[in-house]
Amino acid sequence: MEKSLYTGIQYLKGVGPKKAKLFNQQGIKTIEDLLYHFPRRYEDRSNLLPISLLKENEVQTIQAGVLACRERQSWKRRRFHILEAVVGDDTGKIFCVWFNQPYLKNYFKTGQKLILFGKVQRYSGRLQMNSPEFEIISEEKTDALDAGRIIPIYTVAEGMTQRYFRNILKKALDEHLSKVVEFISFEIRQRNKLLNLAKSLRDIHFPEDLKHPKEAYRRLAFEEFLLFQILVNLRKLKKKQRKGIAHSVDGELAEAFERSLPFELTQAQQRVLQEIKQDMASYLPMSRLLQGDVGSGKTIVAFFAALFAMQSGWQVAFMVPTELLAQQHYLNIKNQISKISAAGVVPEADSPAARSAFSGKNKANPINIQLITSGINKQEKNEIYNKIKQGQANLIIGTHALLEQKLEFNKLGLVIIDEQHKFGVSQRAFLPQRGANPDVLIMTATPIPRTLAITLYGDLDISVIDELPPLRKPVETRFLNEEKREEVYEFIKEQVSQGRQAYIIYPIIEESQQLDLQAASQMYKVLKKETFPDFNIGLVHGQLKTKEQGKIMSEFKRGEIDVLVATTVLEVGIDVANASVMVIEHAERFGLSQLHQLRGRIGRGEHDSYCILISQPQTEDAKRRIKAMVESSDGFRIAEEDLKIRGPGEFFGKRQHGLSELRIANPLRQLQLLKRARQEARELVSSDPRLELRQNVLLRERLHQRFPGHEKYVTVA
Ligand code: ADP
Ligand code: MG
Repeated sequence: MEKSLYTGIQYLKGVGPKKAKLFNQQGIKTIEDLLYHFPRRYEDRSNLLPISLLKENEVQTIQAGVLACRERQSWKRRRFHILEAVVGDDTGKIFCVWFNQPYLKNYFKTGQKLILFGKVQRYSGRLQMNSPEFEIISEEKTDALDAGRIIPIYTVAEGMTQRYFRNILKKALDEHLSKVVEFISFEIRQRNKLLNLAKSLRDIHFPEDLKHPKEAYRRLAFEEFLLFQILVNLRKLKKKQRKGIAHSVDGELAEAFERSLPFELTQAQQRVLQEIKQDMASYLPMSRLLQGDVGSGKTIVAFFAALFAMQSGWQVAFMVPTELLAQQHYLNIKNQISKISAAGVVPEADSPAARSAFSGKNKANPINIQLITSGINKQEKNEIYNKIKQGQANLIIGTHALLEQKLEFNKLGLVIIDEQHKFGVSQRAFLPQRGANPDVLIMTATPIPRTLAITLYGDLDISVIDELPPLRKPVETRFLNEEKREEVYEFIKEQVSQGRQAYIIYPIIEESQQLDLQAASQMYKVLKKETFPDFNIGLVHGQLKTKEQGKIMSEFKRGEIDVLVATTVLEVGIDVANASVMVIEHAERFGLSQLHQLRGRIGRGEHDSYCILISQPQTEDAKRRIKAMVESSDGFRIAEEDLKIRGPGEFFGKRQHGLSELRIANPLRQLQLLKRARQEARELVSSDPRLELRQNVLLRERLHQRFPGHEKYVTVA
């Protein structure tokens, strides 16, 4: 059989069906996949040293002959096999020891020449390498793969060794590299000074020196960025070709709402609102990402957007990540609506005026708002579904519960997704498909630097609220160790006596929610009985029913609870202006963005606010996170730091479309390269949207292979 790059990995010599399974586990299905499985790092074993010059406690490489070899059992542990070889060169000798690999003895016949690589140590007076890596030097074999050169180190599946993986890769390169087709045009390669593909693949695996893989790395990263950016641009183009809804953005509802606001919108809010207005008034479907720090006032902006849609006779779906947040939005919005209806703009939802308004007899549209969470029972749910289907409800707020096939909309005109990073790609894509090209507004309080955002979310338009509402005082953040806890409690007492309220947050300690709860609920008892016997203490966590959570939050909001003990359910969106203290226990267990989100729950009113992190950080990363929190309150800076600490893979997670597909490119470290690729991708897509010109055909093929689920984006109608 003639093998191609797309031949299954099991047909490579030395692999077979059993080993193929291990490769498959790592996502390596074809020979090409193998070539694109890049080294995690390199080890420079190119400097061969004479044994007499070896230094203790350093990793070094020698070339030596086997002088003797013997097996023995360990004294201490029976059935513990030790293989011991003495090897030597002209300058001296050294012991090499391997454990529980009896088969190795076949390799170490006396006189056999080896290259050995490992840490040199001194044991009871003699030099020794424990489990060194080795390469057997034979007459006919000239290139030593495992030693005597720069060695690639891979992530390999369990049950596979580095040397096996390296050998297979080498074979694959030797036999199949000639079939690799360059798909980036000569012009683009020249403009961006890129190595060609075959050379890049060889160099990245087996570089001659440590400079070589850098160029290879650059080329392969560019390639990923380019494909990704082409995809983004094609999708953008496709969106532009769809016809959406032109909402009437100037209308009574929005105007009445604006008049009813107790404050002025900030400059940033006004600017963003203007951008949203333009989008919504046009027939092009809006897809806009709204970035803004916690507390910057995104919700109001989103509500304006909802009003634009409703006053134009369309339905709005508003999805949020937690039940608590859904409930809070529901209550807030209801509250706002009652203000507008008090002003006579909106008829009461079920009044005859409202009904006639819906049938088009009255100019003003009523607002009928519905809350859908997983907590409601079947019958209630069906009733609500019915209202939505009939078009009697026009603002639907909910959690993941909105992602139900059975939930049908009558005239879905706007989808709002809050805290978008909490949802997966397919979840975000679901709601917009429930209408005919509705406008889409997604919001995030985990902002990333603008240049990066534009590039990564290239198919979205981006708005940024970069200003906090006035009179907002920055939260003072302090870091204390556990010995200071009593002082912290005293401080809470002081604040509560002045009429303020406090949060005490406990982390996820075990993966088990039951156990997590224990930290919070046990402490709740202690705090209630012993620490704050004179105050009202509340407890809220994710295991409570939605209604119960809501009840406690309302009590807290009304000031009936002084100190709220909570788990991370508080992380997003909760808004209680009178709360001025937040204590976060075991702060080292939280991610940086998460800490910042939590801190965003306070400092929402006119009072001085304090965030106290209690922690004994052990790791460097934990220390960095806490330091960043104490030093900065700027969400953009925090996010950037978080991105640096965790790296893009972790930061964006598996959920972020496209990014998790990047195997080698790092958007943070290679921003310049990303920008270049983006520029090329734009030009390509605008000059040849179908990628059908001769110089682009191969590129299109590659795009199909690399992103197989995305053909539909490539053939732009
Ligand atoms: P985000 O969702 O961006 O974290 P919110 O929309 O919850 O922020 O707003 C935080 C708080 O600030 C809310 O209580 C909101 O009513 C208030 N707020 C929003 N905009 C303004 C403004 N322009 N002036 C004063 N307060 C505002
Ligand atoms: Mg919000």
